[in-house]
Amino acid sequence: MLGFIVIIICPCYFYCSIYRQRKSNNDLTTMTDIELGIPHEVRCEYTQLNTIYSPMLHYNPDECAITKIARKQIIFGKIIGSGVFGMVYQGNVKNLESSGTEISVAIKTLRKDASSHEKKKLLKEAELMNRFRHKHILRLLGVCLDGIYPFLVLELMETGDLSRYLRDCRNLEASDSHALRLQDLFAMCEDVARGCCYLEELRFVHRDLACRNCLVSSRNRENRIVKIGDFGLARNIYHDYYRMRGEDLLPVRWMAPESLMIRIFTSQSDVWSFGVLMWEITSLGEQPYVDKTNAEVIIYVLAGDRLPMPLNCPSALYQLMLRCWTAADARPNFEFFLKNIITLRKNIEDALLSPVDIL
Ligand code: ATP
Repeated sequence: MLGFIVIIICPCYFYCSIYRQRKSNNDLTTMTDIELGIPHEVRCEYTQLNTIYSPMLHYNPDECAITKIARKQIIFGKIIGSGVFGMVYQGNVKNLESSGTEISVAIKTLRKDASSHEKKKLLKEAELMNRFRHKHILRLLGVCLDGIYPFLVLELMETGDLSRYLRDCRNLEASDSHALRLQDLFAMCEDVARGCCYLEELRFVHRDLACRNCLVSSRNRENRIVKIGDFGLARNIYHDYYRMRGEDLLPVRWMAPESLMIRIFTSQSDVWSFGVLMWEITSLGEQPYVDKTNAEVIIYVLAGDRLPMPLNCPSALYQLMLRCWTAADARPNFEFFLKNIITLRKNIEDALLSPVDIL
């Protein structure tokens, strides 16, 4: 019976709901009209001002050219992470901002046996990232094309990815100055929401919003900034939709029902993932639906079940998460979530967090 619901009823429901939404947007009429966006189709100046985040919105079409960095300018240091395509190193780059200077950077490399397809994907990621200038989006500093394989040179985020950071913080005593408090959780949600608003304004769909793809600048709360990174799956869209061909591995625990059902990715499906990301933050890095397999998650989500409220999550913030997990046409946009997170942050007093089991 459950199989019948998933196979027959759900696709019809989502097609109808998205069709209704597209009509109400005065958009094109059929699903087959969906455009596959490619980077050069999007005009650089395509932004609108928004009062909440416009002070940080900075986009200059003249800055579209990617900075080329020579191999001899780069000094490799230790490995700080490994991705699907290869290692990420800490390092330094000489004479980048001006001659005689040396700055710390992260260098994303490709495995020695990487295919030409993977090489193209890395360069595409660079092309996408180069379009962004925002406090909460990881900055691409340049690319090095001198060897057989390109390197991406990125701003260094000292504390690494957000998921690991949250889990590490579980081990800290409440008396530790780096121990997380309730206001820290709000601050991290707000940082990511600001980055998401910017991407929404630029009509970029990230498609892989998750704590593992966000990076943290510092453990010290005064200097801590969370930025959205990893644009390996991101696509810019000319129309409101991006439809995937189904060849990629899918982050199903973060995916909206319509993405699971018909592989459709929009800013609204990014909103769903953002809800899961806020859930990860408030559960201090727990894996979503930890007791379920990927296949069980799909059935659970399509049946209308949702992640439970985490121990340290204020009920008002959980209500916001539930809004992220409504039907696509009822889901508010990122501007709504940013406004509400800012308001909640002002109105809720800071508090110590209850201890969460160490993973
Ligand atoms: P991809 O799918 O593109 O391979 P990935 O999510 O597998 O991406 P990478 O972007 O390659 O991962 O990054 C791997 C790890 O390296 C991250 O989880 C993070 O810990 C570290 N890392 C990546 N970029 C930076 C950076 N700019 N500063 C600090 N650490 C970074």
